[in-house]
Amino acid sequence: MNKSVLIINCGSSSLKFAVLTTPGNDVLVEGIADRLGIDDSSITFKHNGTKNTLPLTDSSHRQAVTEIKNWLDQHESIQESIVGIGHRIVHGGETFTSSVIIDEDVVKGIEECARFAPLHNLAHIKGIKESQNLFEGLPQVAVFDTAFHQTLKTEQFLYAIPMDLYNRHNFRKYGFHGTSYRYISQELARVAPESASQGVIVAHLGNGASTCAIQNGKATDTSMGITPLDGLMMGTRSGSVDPSLVSFISNAENISCDETIDLLNKKSGLLGVSEISSDCRTLEDAVFAGDERAKLALDMFASRAAKSLASVATTLDTLDHVVFTGGIGENSDYLRGKICESLRALNITINSEKNSNAPRGENCIISDETANVKVWILPTNEELMIAMDTISLIEQAH
Ligand code: ADP
Repeated sequence: MNKSVLIINCGSSSLKFAVLTTPGNDVLVEGIADRLGIDDSSITFKHNGTKNTLPLTDSSHRQAVTEIKNWLDQHESIQESIVGIGHRIVHGGETFTSSVIIDEDVVKGIEECARFAPLHNLAHIKGIKESQNLFEGLPQVAVFDTAFHQTLKTEQFLYAIPMDLYNRHNFRKYGFHGTSYRYISQELARVAPESASQGVIVAHLGNGASTCAIQNGKATDTSMGITPLDGLMMGTRSGSVDPSLVSFISNAENISCDETIDLLNKKSGLLGVSEISSDCRTLEDAVFAGDERAKLALDMFASRAAKSLASVATTLDTLDHVVFTGGIGENSDYLRGKICESLRALNITINSEKNSNAPRGENCIISDETANVKVWILPTNEELMIAMDTISLIEQAH
């Protein structure tokens, strides 16, 4: 019988879920509960090409997990194939360097890391506790966005601030999108086995965006920091700015430091500069219609992504592969083209025809066959990574 995993990605006001079966990696059912803790909340199930939405009258995470359980009770063959639950956890701090089976200590550890990601980690704990109650006896696994970056050298992860602040508070770079980078590293090693002992730079470009350098399968640098605000310009996040800007904005606008950080997280990036949208597709349409501000926003995005890729590449022995992934990386030939144009000094060039004709949703190479640095598009699959970790940890435990 196929083994399946229920994957839960519990945010502060949403809960995304999917049941993935291996082998085949088919999605048996997936969906999202949104507006949790607000009002008008609902849960949508996508199964066999149909969509079904139910209201969640008390808007709680508990009710969302209960509805998932009810749905599975009505779909016995799927329910019976589930061997475990995999939870996506945003922040694992320095405590978690790989995925783990969840026990009381792990829950405590996730709670301790909540100081760096309070909205996310506390929501994850709700999801874990509700799942433990409703799916009694089913093993649960935590998969951390930060874990892949725990191989960074000290000189890469420390901020140049008094050492005492790191020693007392663990203030350092953690990095995110680690589950995606681990998937990309393994997938690249599957399609190009030599990459497992080479140097790779990856641009994960979605609403959230970051870069990562990987040498011999291990992360050596990444662009996000103690939170996902650092590094690249993103949909609504500014990315790196001079830290003094926080106090300038705060004083000039008479808002608190936290409100300023909120502005940098939610009102900046592509949205802030274009004043049109945070969505790349909408901005591309605007560019083609002649909107100069949309073009400026996308060109800034490309320029910063290129700079960040060049910067993380300084931690590699050799530069052999560049990978684009995430909604923008996989789909925007305009931005891939712009980014690679800015990286020509590093010998990174693409074939513009291959770039514009890249098939959607498939692995492909967009550099010329003779290129020293291979440029790839690899669609990421974080859910599959979570499912594989869950199954392998459960099997190891038996
Ligand atoms: P998230 O970080 O939320 O997972 P995604 O990886 O789904 O984000 O990426 C979302 C981004 O991908 C959006 O900016 C969206 O406009 C962009 N995107 C998706 N499809 C296309 C496309 N065909 N062309 C350009 N951008 C696209």
